[in-house]
Amino acid sequence: MSTYIFESKKIESIVDFIDSETFFIFDIDHTLIETAQVIGSTHWEKHFIRRQMDQGLSYEDASKRSFALWKQIQKSTEVRTIENGIFRLVSFLKTHNIPTLGLTSRDHDLMDLTFDQLKKVNLENVFNLDHPPHALEAELECHFSRGAVFCGDNPKDIALKALFKKNDIAPKKIIFIDDQKDHLYELEEMAYHAEIEYIGMQYTASNHERFNSDIAVIQEKHLPNILSDDEALKLMQN
Ligand SMILES: [Mg+2]
Repeated sequence: MSTYIFESKKIESIVDFIDSETFFIFDIDHTLIETAQVIGSTHWEKHFIRRQMDQGLSYEDASKRSFALWKQIQKSTEVRTIENGIFRLVSFLKTHNIPTLGLTSRDHDLMDLTFDQLKKVNLENVFNLDHPPHALEAELECHFSRGAVFCGDNPKDIALKALFKKNDIAPKKIIFIDDQKDHLYELEEMAYHAEIEYIGMQYTASNHERFNSDIAVIQEKHLPNILSDDEALKLMQN
């Protein structure tokens, strides 16, 4: 069965691959939405973990610390979409009645907050897979709610497999957009073994080139207030 992964900075690059047999899956962070500033982003999270480890923390402890901070920031941060093209893609999917699912590493306790954030940018109805909320069988906590799977710390392929099994979903073709390559590989392997055609797109519009560690450090110092990147830059220049 064929699998194909490619990279694009344009979300609409995926449109040509969509057909009537497609089951469409969206990651959320840095695919549909991102924080309006450096702090709270995935790039910031990774950088924060590295800095904590440089100071002697284990990876586990550094990750825990970064996750706690990330969670705190999500509660008050503004979010934005990455490209306007997302709205054209969503309306294309709707017009063609393509089933859509969200697949996020966020924990289920962030479900309400996640949909509040999506609502702020008018993307709260992107996922149309219609099943009542339910827990999924996985090693760690995992839930389906409002069209999205909240994987928590489970690998995305395990969570997706659990969703398919529980709801008798057997797509012929999966398209998945995520900014993180490892998640694209996880689903590729799953699709390959399940003999499902698979197209994965690494969406790189929200990329590391925009990450500025000096801004991140200033914003950390001002928590719980969240400074914009411009405000942090101004402070740097004074
Ligand atoms: Mg992401």
